[in-house]
Amino acid sequence: MNLIKPKVVRILKPTKASIEKLKVTVLVEDSVNVKKPNLIPKHGLSLLVETKLAGVDSRFLMDAGPGPDIALRNAGMIDIDMKKIDSMMLSHGHYDHTGALLQVLKHIDHSIPIIAHPNVFSPKFAYKPALTSIGIEFDQPAIKAAGGELLLTRDSIALLNGVLSSGEILRKTYFENTKGFWTVECNNLIDDTVSDDQALFINVRNKGLVILTGCAHSGIINTVRQAKRVTGIENVYAIIGGFHLEQANDERLQKSIKELKEIYLKRIYPCHCTGKKAISQLTKSFGDFCIPINTGDSIEF
Ligand SMILES: [Zn+2]
Ligand SMILES: [Zn+2]
Repeated sequence: MNLIKPKVVRILKPTKASIEKLKVTVLVEDSVNVKKPNLIPKHGLSLLVETKLAGVDSRFLMDAGPGPDIALRNAGMIDIDMKKIDSMMLSHGHYDHTGALLQVLKHIDHSIPIIAHPNVFSPKFAYKPALTSIGIEFDQPAIKAAGGELLLTRDSIALLNGVLSSGEILRKTYFENTKGFWTVECNNLIDDTVSDDQALFINVRNKGLVILTGCAHSGIINTVRQAKRVTGIENVYAIIGGFHLEQANDERLQKSIKELKEIYLKRIYPCHCTGKKAISQLTKSFGDFCIPINTGDSIEF
């Protein structure tokens, strides 16, 4: 008999460490509304995270963005030295978040840890309209050769005290689903739930949790609930990233907004795959607290 091991998310003890200063910069995302004329937008996402804790500066990269080297070129345009990155997290294995990974690693020119879910390399497909491969375009040895030390785990991992990867996100809500993606199992093309989807949770002093999502394929509400569960912190200050609500029906949009309102979320910074309709609904509900962000934008906490 084939026994399937249950997926377990390890619950970490609440971290007391809180980040004194946080700056998040959009190195690339979809919108043509870029900050400077030379910046290049492209479908995908790469966010640079800069922190100060106990007076020490650290830098993290969430996703490398689409190929070939747009995140790097944009970083150069806004005077960011990408060589100083300490570690990376891949939000999931889609090409628009991983396409530039090898170029970024080679540029960093020292070995860095890359946190990702074990399924990040699983086959990934979508109909666009023909069946297309949308996964990572290179293998693990290529990543190692470029200087990436892969740390593949379903658990939440601290990149720094106060900066945690989500681990595998529990899917609890009934109104958030992942449709439109495909994978292969036992020679069959089946629905891909994108179980490798992860987010980044940052505990910011005097504010609360700041949550960074890649595409939020697990659902933005499932992601927010995971943040509280993993950190033990109830106060969610801001969400930043792609919320994957482009195809969301009205029920999903309304239920998501209702729950975000109930947790007294203070700021929403949507971009990438959030979708125009969702952004306009979020703006209607949150007013000036909903601030769409584009390539070249920085947010400071
Ligand atoms: Zn995706
Ligand atoms: Zn994406």
